Amino acid sequence: MKFCKLCVFPDTKPDLTFNEHGVCSACQFAARKKATIDWEARKKELLAIVDRFRSRNGYYDCIVPVSGGKDSTFQVWYMKYKLGMNPLAVHFEPTCRTELGLKNLKALRNLGVDLISWDKNPHVYRAMGLEAFKRVGDHEWPNHIGIFTVPVITAVKFKIPLLIWGENSQSEYGGPASAQDSNILNRRWLEEFGGLLGNRIYDMIGVDGITEKDVIPYLYPSDKELEEVGVTGLFLGHYIPWDARSQIEVVKEFGWSPKSDGPVEGTYGNHENLDESTYYIHDYLKYVKFGFGRATDHAGIDIRNGRITREEACKLVREHDGRYPKEHLKAFLEFYKMSKSEFDKVIDSYTNKKIFKRRSDGSFEREADGSLIKLYHPDNV
Ligand SMILES: [Zn+2]
Repeated sequence: MKFCKLCVFPDTKPDLTFNEHGVCSACQFAARKKATIDWEARKKELLAIVDRFRSRNGYYDCIVPVSGGKDSTFQVWYMKYKLGMNPLAVHFEPTCRTELGLKNLKALRNLGVDLISWDKNPHVYRAMGLEAFKRVGDHEWPNHIGIFTVPVITAVKFKIPLLIWGENSQSEYGGPASAQDSNILNRRWLEEFGGLLGNRIYDMIGVDGITEKDVIPYLYPSDKELEEVGVTGLFLGHYIPWDARSQIEVVKEFGWSPKSDGPVEGTYGNHENLDESTYYIHDYLKYVKFGFGRATDHAGIDIRNGRITREEACKLVREHDGRYPKEHLKAFLEFYKMSKSEFDKVIDSYTNKKIFKRRSDGSFEREADGSLIKLYHPDNV
């Protein structure tokens, strides 16, 4: 593994590229953003777009897809209080909701908005999650689809054409150049960058008796339906500088809370992935496949925003990245009705043999708590 000279991102990260100075595409884009983007002009552009969609009759004039997390709460706040819009918040229920997640979701209404929560059929969701866990190594697959389709379905049905998404993950985490500065989230973006791993919803028909009528919330509306309403999905992060840590201060005033008893499993922060108690398994799978976890993601962003040094980041990554899951594993095994040995077997089948230490018989060597031993670190290359 090779790591970026400025941040801690590795070359095993999908879609990440490096220049001749060993700097990753996420850092290059962040520097370009600071140096060349005229944020005043972008904000004017946003205002002009929003004015086109502004309701003249008091009806909702945009949909904000919300998880109840800091970003989506901020998006609602920005649309309502900074731009004077009348947003409708739309939520898709996560795999295993946490109490804190539910509290934050409910608190979002304190911003003075209506909220639609689309709660899933747990049997269908579980069957798809389990299948995706084995098939593509990601049980969160139905969630990735649901969070992107349910708001678009609502946009079509309620005839509210404008959707306001948050930051483009491709600019935050370093995707292909063409996608980094994209302002639009559409079907193509979802299929390419939404984490679907090449598995389509129709590939799930027949799994555990799933039929077409079971997957309604996961079907992206047709082009004809989208055109009729004029559905337009924008990344707010394209128009305003995105700094999660300062946005947290805004949303706290409306009752949003971070985790109060220490960091979220798998990273050093206490402000992300609070709504879901199996999410770390998704991050852990990323770790075993590519050798980096959520702490690497967060440290990269914190370095680029000048909040920590690379040296500090290396320490945080060593300490938090890819520890064998505990708390989230318990929730996962309960929800998916799976034994730990079955779980380990699937995880091992996705574990990268070149990145982790193995014994002479080929099996993975582990620390006392079950954590894998990584051969490469951003501070030793
Ligand atoms: Zn970098």
